[in-house]
Amino acid sequence: MVHYDPNTRNAAQGAPPLCPKCGSHKTEIVGRSNDLKSVTLRCNACGERSQMPVGKDSDQETAA
Ligand SMILES: [Zn+2]
Repeated sequence: MVHYDPNTRNAAQGAPPLCPKCGSHKTEIVGRSNDLKSVTLRCNACGERSQMPVGKDSDQETAA
């Protein structure tokens, strides 16, 4: 169960990315590219799937 609280910064995840299609924040990361440079994002509002680049705060992501 994943529940985002806007008042709590999740150190591992940060803010949830917005859907590029409808702008909803009801998004879910459903996959990762092989080079780990982008993630596959799925919007729970409109169902759009999109690739989002990773690269912010990636210093914390040392555990694979
Ligand atoms: Zn959407």
